[in-house]
Amino acid sequence: MQCPFCEKLEIKARCIIKNDFAFAFPTNIPIVPGHVLIAPLRCVSSFDDMTEEEVKAVFDLRGKLKNALIKTFGAEGFNCAYNDGEVAGQSVPHFHFHMLPRKKGDSGITEYEPRKFLYRTGSRAESPEEELLEVLELIRNNLT
Ligand SMILES: [Zn+2]
Repeated sequence: MQCPFCEKLEIKARCIIKNDFAFAFPTNIPIVPGHVLIAPLRCVSSFDDMTEEEVKAVFDLRGKLKNALIKTFGAEGFNCAYNDGEVAGQSVPHFHFHMLPRKKGDSGITEYEPRKFLYRTGSRAESPEEELLEVLELIRNNLT
């Protein structure tokens, strides 16, 4: 089984923050600037495969990133979600929690359709790696 989160060096290099059981990084196909993914360090595919410690670790990072995304991107609200299972649009077999900073008038998606919302690899451009590294640096500078 191939897992980009475990195998791609770019993703490890893109880590914004990490704790004992989880890590976070900007996605290469953001819906809005600052769209980050939070994943357990261990390669498990479903939310329910995570231990309580891993779930807690993922949500701890969510809390830390929330404040950083407010400071960095002026977020006024968030979309937080995950796709569980291939039919639900899960494209990488390693659990990941999407976190999107949103603000009034942002240039992200305009219609909310959950099946397309987090899984539209064909219809969103990939961001260049340098840009993602800038995004991670910006967010990291605002972590407290
Ligand atoms: Zn993995």
